[in-house]
Amino acid sequence: MKKLYVISGSSGVGKGTVIKEFLKKHPEFKLSVSCTTRNKREGEIHGVNYFYLTVEEFDSCIKNDEFLEWAEFSGNRYGTKKDFVKKCLDNGENLILEIDTKGALNVKSLMPEAVLIFIEPPSIKDLETRLRGRHTEDEESIRKRLASIKAEIKNSEKFDYKIMNDTVENAVKSLETIMTAE
Ligand code: 5GP
Repeated sequence: MKKLYVISGSSGVGKGTVIKEFLKKHPEFKLSVSCTTRNKREGEIHGVNYFYLTVEEFDSCIKNDEFLEWAEFSGNRYGTKKDFVKKCLDNGENLILEIDTKGALNVKSLMPEAVLIFIEPPSIKDLETRLRGRHTEDEESIRKRLASIKAEIKNSEKFDYKIMNDTVENAVKSLETIMTAE
């Protein structure tokens, strides 16, 4: 049976890198593309990293019940489209959603068979350093993101698995172990 995996982790924890490395080794898995109202970062591509929507477009998707889940995160909205997930699972693809912990718990309540995985930083201090080192956000958004960390860690208590991202290589190995067990 093809499965839905939901991977969450605090911003800057390096979950994107872990997932990218995992996907390079396992092309049989597909990463879902979410919608967001946040601005495009340098190098990001519409339809690849996200579908970038205006607030009005996002609202209209909410009104038309097009989202499996959506959440406000750090002043922006992010959502997973129902039809995207359905199409992938109908096509027999193993799908990975990279979403925040609130969204992950919402998916679990709608699709209990989804497997929830949380990627933890080795330490909060380390996470703060990584976040600042990325130089993609101003001080205020960094502070907002750091404030979400506590809530994310609390939510992660309800997850099926937790992975410590001490090195990318170890985290990818842990992901492989989980996928094999599932
Ligand atoms: P970023 O702005 O760094 O790309 O993402 C910020 C946060 O939004 C991350 O924790 C990411 O996992 C989360 N996110 C991305 N897409 C979605 C989505 O479709 N739904 C939810 N709930 N969170 C998402």
